Amino acid sequence: MSELKKYNMYIGGEWVPSSDHQYFESFNPATGQPWCQIAQGTKEDVEKAVKTAHDAFFSDKWADMTYTERGHLLRKLADLLTEHVNELAEFETLDNGKLIREMKGQLHYMPEFLYYYAGLADKIQGETLPVDKKNMFVFSEREPLGVVAAITPWNSPLYLTFIKLAPALVAGNTIVIKPSEHTSASILEFVKLVEKAGFPAGVVNVITGFGKDVGDPLTSHPLVSRIAFTGGEKTARNIVKNSSNNFAQLSLELGGKSPNIVFDDANLYNAAMGAIAGIFGATGQSCVAGSRVFIHEIAYEEFMDILLTRVNKIKIGDPMSAESEIGPVATYQQLQNIERYVDLGKKEGAKLLTGGKRPIHMKNGWYFEPTVFEHSNHSSCIMKEEIFGPVLSVMTFKEETDVINLANSTDYGLAAGIWTNDIAKAHRISKRVRAGIVWVNTYRAISPIAPIGGSKLSGYGREGGLESVHDYTQKKTVWINT
Ligand code: NAD
Repeated sequence: MSELKKYNMYIGGEWVPSSDHQYFESFNPATGQPWCQIAQGTKEDVEKAVKTAHDAFFSDKWADMTYTERGHLLRKLADLLTEHVNELAEFETLDNGKLIREMKGQLHYMPEFLYYYAGLADKIQGETLPVDKKNMFVFSEREPLGVVAAITPWNSPLYLTFIKLAPALVAGNTIVIKPSEHTSASILEFVKLVEKAGFPAGVVNVITGFGKDVGDPLTSHPLVSRIAFTGGEKTARNIVKNSSNNFAQLSLELGGKSPNIVFDDANLYNAAMGAIAGIFGATGQSCVAGSRVFIHEIAYEEFMDILLTRVNKIKIGDPMSAESEIGPVATYQQLQNIERYVDLGKKEGAKLLTGGKRPIHMKNGWYFEPTVFEHSNHSSCIMKEEIFGPVLSVMTFKEETDVINLANSTDYGLAAGIWTNDIAKAHRISKRVRAGIVWVNTYRAISPIAPIGGSKLSGYGREGGLESVHDYTQKKTVWINT
């Protein structure tokens, strides 16, 4: 067998192996085979990366750079990203199995995120404060926090890095990125562009490896001032504990069990297509996956007919092929997890309408059929817990108040969809649904201007929008006795 491509880490502008020269394999979910090797970082490597980022934070090259200059650098990076989107999309598909056309679609939009934040660089302003003291001139200014630790999961490695990196850098911070152990390659390929754009060495660093080896020492490091985390609940709890070491400011973007609510006055075809995209896009591995659909009982039969006809035609296949409509899930462990949930759903009395197993024609790789369960009540685990796979739960409702209660009967509070032609109803429901994002007659739309984030077990803090630049700064108040 030919030797696998080896990736080192990026620290202080240099490509370095781990302190003990160990590597681990990264797998292609479409084949179930390893395709590259990634440096397996250690506590010593974290120490080096954080120290380097800390030194870079205070270096003349970065600390004395004007906000406008930082904006220019980020714009240059966005231009380079535009040139390299297709190859970066291929690395993401190789690593996490998402469809190449889905990855290209997502990444082609990503330069907009960098341009948006580049445009905000010179709008990070303070204010004068009219204090009740004579002869005092008092003002506040926003200054960067220091070293940011950005920790990302495997489902959208680059997107979830950009919405941390762009606001952090324009505000003047430095960053240590720790990508998921399942999807490190696209980030390592991307930082080559950071280097090319001319960011000073040490401003952006990437450390690779496992949670216990590098995640823990990174999030508890005394020189880390801000942790931007996207991932699962269990890891988030650990990070919150670790941050008691450094009191780093936190944002936690976690999971969801998002509802799509379909009223009988909605365009049922659009609602069904929206529900399908909401759950089967990214093979269900999306934090905002619309994994529960509530349909008004009057519309149920017609809606389900449209939905199931389309779901039964979804083409499962190689994610690199333009023909495929759903690819594999990202890890073998995730595949087993989905199977466990499907068995549980059946045991708990949910009715399996379609799917529910690995497709027989895709023996290699980690594929699972698009699956739909019908429920007569909201009590089963698969209605409550995040599966993070292509499994949809559907249920009818009668009254508006009932569906609001159903939608909110979850420990999560990330996203919700509402399908109706009644604008007043859309407003009413959107106000009462406990979710950080509500989409009406659409699902999964994103923009750099629109914040994303949740409440309850979906975490706290927002990413995207002007607010998120402010989250990478702190206010300094200056008193001048005139
Ligand atoms: P995960 O929590 O297992 O891993 C996320 C990252 O945390 C990885 O880089 C991992 O190596 C790291 N990590 C693991 N242990 C750590 C530790 N002790 N200290 C610090 N870092 C550690 O999550 P995952 O399985 O990669 O991703 C799936 C989860 O992410 C799902 O729950 C999903 O809903 C969530 N997610 C949320 C959003 C959002 O924006 N809200 C987006 C995508 C994914």
